[in-house]
Amino acid sequence: MPELYCDDPFERGFYDRDLAPVPEALVRRLFRTVPDLVARPQDGEGVARVLERARREGRGVTPRAAGTSAYGNAVPARGGILLDLNGLRGRAELLPEAGAVAVDAATRWGELERWLRRRGWALLSYPTSAPGSTVGGWFNQQGFGVGSLRHGRMHEQVLAARIVLSDARVRELGPDTDPPLGWFAGSEGTLGVVTRLTLRVRPAPEREAHHLVALPDAAALEDLSRTLAGWDPPPFSLHFADGEFHRLLEEAGHPAAQGLTLRVDLDGSAEYLEDARARLASAAGLRGGRVLGGPAALEDWLERCFEVRVKRAGPVLVGAEVWLPLASLGRFLEAAQAVGRRRRRRVFTYGTVASRDHCLVNAFFPVDAVGWRELPSLGLVEELQSWGLRLGGHPYGGVGLWNAPYRTAILSAQERAELSRRKARLDPGGLLNPGKLYAPAHLLLRPGLFRPGLRALGSVRISGRRDGS
Ligand SMILES: Cc1cc2nc3c(=O)[nH]c(=O)nc-3n(C[C@H](O)[C@H](O)[C@H](O)COP(=O)(O)OP(=O)(O)OC[C@H]3O[C@@H](n4cnc5c(N)ncnc54)[C@H](O)[C@@H]3O)c2cc1C
Repeated sequence: MPELYCDDPFERGFYDRDLAPVPEALVRRLFRTVPDLVARPQDGEGVARVLERARREGRGVTPRAAGTSAYGNAVPARGGILLDLNGLRGRAELLPEAGAVAVDAATRWGELERWLRRRGWALLSYPTSAPGSTVGGWFNQQGFGVGSLRHGRMHEQVLAARIVLSDARVRELGPDTDPPLGWFAGSEGTLGVVTRLTLRVRPAPEREAHHLVALPDAAALEDLSRTLAGWDPPPFSLHFADGEFHRLLEEAGHPAAQGLTLRVDLDGSAEYLEDARARLASAAGLRGGRVLGGPAALEDWLERCFEVRVKRAGPVLVGAEVWLPLASLGRFLEAAQAVGRRRRRRVFTYGTVASRDHCLVNAFFPVDAVGWRELPSLGLVEELQSWGLRLGGHPYGGVGLWNAPYRTAILSAQERAELSRRKARLDPGGLLNPGKLYAPAHLLLRPGLFRPGLRALGSVRISGRRDGS
């Protein structure tokens, strides 16, 4: 099918942003985020033709699927062609003997899960952005979310993929090909364009059960999370949220639990669920926790993909996403609260236990608007990220544009060298997603400038909204 091109300024304007609450005037001063041209292919051959054209015309190409990443990952840094992949959606094929499904890259996680459930199968894991985000997008990002605790990182669930390389060759790649499929996992659209993936799935579980545990403090939350994550097998998923998150939810008009909670998602046979429930009640009791009755746990589970509904209390949420050792969870939650109290901001935290020893924590706070007046609040983001770094973690969400100052904390020296080697081999002309992952796209985003700059901004006192006492 022929691909579509659009150079209409109004249409192109929709692609110049994501969820990052950065003032537009600042973004436009640093980057050329509006693409010169939008290309919308319908299949892998169409993607190859777009890349051929880009090479001919010497334009960079920014792949974009649902655009739910939040650090400018899918936003152009230097204009060029925006490759809108949303035409590559659906065409799912179940492969029961392999316990796998093959699907086009821009298929939404939510629609794939529904499609599988109707056939007696289920996804192993998915991000909480599942209603909107795509299979190919998560493969190009970090790949930890709901179900990762039990089934591991999404990257390890992908058996094969069709990928268009920067020279427009279409390749079927797997673990033993040259280049191997693993090179492309988490590469943020800088090494190739994924058009179709084959990923492992599981027979739909016999039964599911969800429990919500109220806990007295952050230390108890950490302790219980570590115990449950160490179960064999671990729960399908563990999700935590603090009291401030619940208060803001209530204020936004959503019913919510109170205090610090841990949601425990279990699946398996009736006997397993009964046994696990008893073990959970005992483990929670030992730490001063209480398993809540009534519909609270099920409601929390049903809203698992809508945490950002708390934004209604905002209207804008600013904050840090942190990949953290599970053993640092309690100290991080306490530090986030202390930062909030000192800065008089309503910092709230929620997150997921991503593996036996790591968790993903979101520490956010509401602000009035995205604008120059709120710029000092970015200093608080740096403060929260610094706590994550101090406690052995690093920013999550990929490098993109805005995490570039933390690149050396996110990727080890060895990982950076290996990535550069792959880039030099697969995309020597720097066609794909230019300005991302390998070096900051602007001088101001160098760690030595950006981080001290944010800290200095954070000390600026402005009049206007302040929360708390
Ligand atoms: C409410 C909410 C909840 C979230 N929850 C999670 C979570 O639980 N876990 C988590 O890890 N993240 C989470 N995220 C972040 C984000 O949703 C994920 O990273 C998601 O996988 C991005 O998918 P996307 O389709 O939106 O990709 P995009 O944002 O469009 O792109 C992401 C990156 O991948 C590249 N890309 C996209 N598709 C392709 C392709 N087919 N081939 C090559 N490159 C491609 C882009 O260039 C970009 O660098 C959440 C975000 C929101 C808003």
